[in-house]
Amino acid sequence: MKSGELFERAKTLMPGGVSSPVRAIQPYPFYVAGAAGAYLKTLDGERLIDCCLGYGPLLLGHAPDAVRAAIEAQLADGWLYGTPCPGEVALAERIAADHPSIDMVRFVSSGSEATMAAIRLARAATGRQDIVKIEGGFHGAHDAVLVKAGSGATTMGVPDSAGVVADLVAHTRQVAYNDLEGLDALLSSSEDIAALIIEPVMGNVGPVLPEPGYLQEVRALTLDYDVLLIFDEVITGYRLGIGGAQVRYGVTPDLTTLGKIIGGGLPIGAFGGRRDLMAMVAPQGPVYQAGTFSGNPLTMAAGSAALGWLHENREIYARLDAGTRRIEEACAGAGGSFVRLGSMFKYFFRPAAPTNYAEAKESDTAAFRRFWEKMLKKGIFVPPSQFETNFLSAAHTDEIIEQIADAYSTCLSE
Ligand code: PMP
Repeated sequence: MKSGELFERAKTLMPGGVSSPVRAIQPYPFYVAGAAGAYLKTLDGERLIDCCLGYGPLLLGHAPDAVRAAIEAQLADGWLYGTPCPGEVALAERIAADHPSIDMVRFVSSGSEATMAAIRLARAATGRQDIVKIEGGFHGAHDAVLVKAGSGATTMGVPDSAGVVADLVAHTRQVAYNDLEGLDALLSSSEDIAALIIEPVMGNVGPVLPEPGYLQEVRALTLDYDVLLIFDEVITGYRLGIGGAQVRYGVTPDLTTLGKIIGGGLPIGAFGGRRDLMAMVAPQGPVYQAGTFSGNPLTMAAGSAALGWLHENREIYARLDAGTRRIEEACAGAGGSFVRLGSMFKYFFRPAAPTNYAEAKESDTAAFRRFWEKMLKKGIFVPPSQFETNFLSAAHTDEIIEQIADAYSTCLSE
């Protein structure tokens, strides 16, 4: 059975043939038969260098020994207890120690659950109803954050997704990234704003980077207006270094959401923050939050192994930063813009690096699509969208990075 045939079957069984929309590559996605290190092996017998890496969690690459050993060891002892497991205490200690903003943490099973709960907590803690998000910011697929990121819908608070209660998303206000004046104006316009939720580095249209001083000023403004600051570090957590963007930029939010890397590649999310805020979460406080698979021993073991490995191998951050610099050099003179930060990178089909969502959307997506297909033919899988960040992993050796750079150079010049 090849990918094309399998997708035909899948389409009759699952909406769009997939379990998550971005995977529905046309005419059909390749199915993966196996993955190891920096490579995916497709059902059709191809070997691809993976720069999508599960959309971010796989900072150590596919099936790394350290994580695999931890998963195998846990498997022997079962994988779901419905009662606390020792591994969750260890992972919570690690995460709290690594993040200046986190005194206490609650584990959930996805980034969506994490942001949903963090927003609920912020509303409860402040007694206010509105939240501010950044245009083009993505915080998962729950109602409060599914507000269309386009400008018209942004100002009117129209739901992007059908089926979302309009009264709810009327409480989701939006402002452009890197726009401090706009943020100031928005925060001063209402007494009912509970929190600003922001990806400190926008990962879901880019990356799009914060201008110098932006995040510091966002912190200052939210303090001035007494609005809680939620850093959504689901992508940036451990990706930009131990302690994520908050350590890298020296900005401490009130609440932090995490996911992806902290689960070592198994499903996870987490939200954490100041003790007084987290003390409001059930059963300690009145903000209800719960989950069958939360803190499950298998994910906890995988997560602790991955984070432990990162602590012991911190040099990979500098190596991968040099790696994306190498790819950037290969793209020089191709006419578009290259944006990178550590192991996050993207080539935009647009002359200047975007500073916000509206600018990112000006990219030539048809050109991106042609480029994407060429890259795949050269054996390199980058996320199938102009608006998704590419990643490198610790399994991407300098030699593999050189192959990626060569492919960029060739495919962009064609
Ligand atoms: N927040 C951010 C910044 C994300 O990038 C994502 C997913 N890409 C989410 C939240 C949602 O996470 P999940 O897909 O695990 O629900």
